[in-house]
Amino acid sequence: MVIAIDGPAASGKGTLARRLADHLGLPHLDTGLLYRAVARDLLDRREALEAPDLAAAAAGALDLGRLDDPRLRERHMGEAASIVSAFPTVRSALLSLQRRFAEREGGAVLDGRDIGTVVCPAAKLKLFVTASPEERARRRLRELRGNGEATAYEAVLDDIRRRDERDSSRSAAPLRVAADAVVVDTTSLDADGAFARALAIVHALDAPARAG
Ligand code: C5P
Repeated sequence: MVIAIDGPAASGKGTLARRLADHLGLPHLDTGLLYRAVARDLLDRREALEAPDLAAAAAGALDLGRLDDPRLRERHMGEAASIVSAFPTVRSALLSLQRRFAEREGGAVLDGRDIGTVVCPAAKLKLFVTASPEERARRRLRELRGNGEATAYEAVLDDIRRRDERDSSRSAAPLRVAADAVVVDTTSLDADGAFARALAIVHALDAPARAG
C-alpha cells in the first residue's frame, strides 16, 4: 500500500507519516529532506540558490546517504529548500528517485507537498494534513528550540506564511489538496490524536475488503 501525505510546513505530516509507517511496517521517505539536501549542497559550495542550472545539477548528484545531516532541520534550510524546489528541473531530477521509493514491494509512506498530486497520483490513500499557521508556528518553534536554535515566534510565523505562499503559488507542482485526498486538520489534535484519526481512515479503507 502506498500512502501519500501532503501538507504545509509544520502541519504534523512528518510525525504522522513516520508513525503510520512504523505501525504498518512500511518504509518512509520524508521528501522535504531531498529539497533541503539540494539547498545544503548549493550553500556548502557557496553557489546561488536562485540559479536553476546549478540547482538541477545538485539535485541530479544528490547523495542519499547524507539525508541524516542534522543541518537539514535548521530553519534557514527550509526556506532555502522552498526556493530551489520551485524550479521544474530540480523537481524532475528528484521525481524518479521518489517514484522508485514508492514502487517498493509492499508499499511505502511518502510525505511532502506533491506526493498525492504528482509523485504518486495512484496512491491507495492520500492524506492532506494541515493546521492553522499560528499553531504550526508554535510547533515549529518548539522543534527549533529543542534543536538548540534560538528563534522568536514572530519570525517563525513569518517563515511559515512566506513558505505557504511560495509553495502554493509556484507553477511547478504547487501545494494543493488532491481531489481524492482526505483532509486532516490537526489544529486541535496532538500527535496521538492525529495518528488515531489517520489510522481510522486506513482501517476504513480495508473494511470493505474484510467484509467481502
Ligand atoms: O517538508 P519540509 O518543510 O521539509 O520541506 C521543505 C521545502 O521543500 C518545502 O517548503 C517545499 O518548498 C519543498 N518541498 C516540495 N515538495 C515536496 C517536499 C518539500 O516542494 N514533496
